[in-house]
Amino acid sequence: CSVSTPIRATLFPGDGIGPEIAESVKQVFKAADIQIEWEEHYVGDQIDPRTQSFLTWESLESVRRNGVGLKGPMATPIGKGHRSLNLTLRKELNLYANVRPCYSLPGYKTRYDNVNLITIRENTEGEYSGLEHQVVRGVVESLKIITRQASLRVAEYAFHYAKTHGRERVSAIHKANIMQKTDGLFLKCCREVAEKYPEITYEEVVIDNCCMMLVKNPALFDVLVMPNLYGDIISDLCAGLIGGLGLTPSCNIGEGGIALAEAVHGSAPDIAGKNLANPTALLLSAVTMLRHLKLQDKADKIQDAILNTIAEGKYRTADLGGSSTTTDFTKAICDHL
Ligand code: NAD
Repeated sequence: CSVSTPIRATLFPGDGIGPEIAESVKQVFKAADIQIEWEEHYVGDQIDPRTQSFLTWESLESVRRNGVGLKGPMATPIGKGHRSLNLTLRKELNLYANVRPCYSLPGYKTRYDNVNLITIRENTEGEYSGLEHQVVRGVVESLKIITRQASLRVAEYAFHYAKTHGRERVSAIHKANIMQKTDGLFLKCCREVAEKYPEITYEEVVIDNCCMMLVKNPALFDVLVMPNLYGDIISDLCAGLIGGLGLTPSCNIGEGGIALAEAVHGSAPDIAGKNLANPTALLLSAVTMLRHLKLQDKADKIQDAILNTIAEGKYRTADLGGSSTTTDFTKAICDHL
């Protein structure tokens, strides 16, 4: 992809604060002179029978066709009986790995200044298989599915990522002492892949101990790979280490090279429509999308502008203790560019 040929990418502005922070990305990309055509898709207001969710078939086709996309948060009503939008995307597009870099931001003081880790979450199965039912009144059952195929695939991705990004260690996070069959199989697959990468140190850490170690000293970790639910929880914990959900990006990797970048946070209904959201997480997610497209210079330029704006401290949103609006903060980043 060269800078002169416009990139086509799918954009899901999403719900709640989604459209506000998606607007911020569009403005920053414009200021950075990135030739991009966004194919915008909103979540529908009726269930599309072809996807069995409010996501339309056309929007999924758009991601398949473009191979890259950016996704704002999507709200999933609790217990309302329709398929989660995020689950639909992950399943339909086979987005098997969710990669979440988490590093201390220069100039923004938190309890730690040495966080630099990557969580890699299996994204298609585990407790998120959507297989729940009532056994008898008052008793429900949820199935946790772990397969050899999905575990090998995410483990391979984690080790390959570590090798190609100059990382030294991969930690597999599990609870195989209790979930011997499911997490046991996950670990077995990680061990098999680890053998192919002797240059990368491999270790296994029980999830509860991992939480304690992360809070005590996050520098103990480098790349972490784990089943779905643990990844969901640990990556939010990691976001807390560096200043909160407004800051952490992610990218979903799918088969056939699809990359759908998204912020880790949700639709933040408490601040939606108030011009208060921090767009950093979605902006840094968009940066990962540019890196996936091998537009490293543009990605570096935007990332530097974001980090310098935060480090300067003049414009910060409320979640970082400042009083800037989303638009003020976005403008400050554009000025840096
Ligand atoms: P949330 O992430 O939306 O909000 C948690 C807290 O973090 C809130 O106080 C919110 O104001 C704050 N916050 C989040 N993003 C922020 C930002 N960019 N700037 C400033 N503050 C920010 O989590 P929730 O309230 O548990 O979930 C709300 C909805 O989002 C639910 O419907 C949930 O299902 C959905 N959700 C979607 C995704 C996704 O699309 N990937 C992820 C998580 C939650």
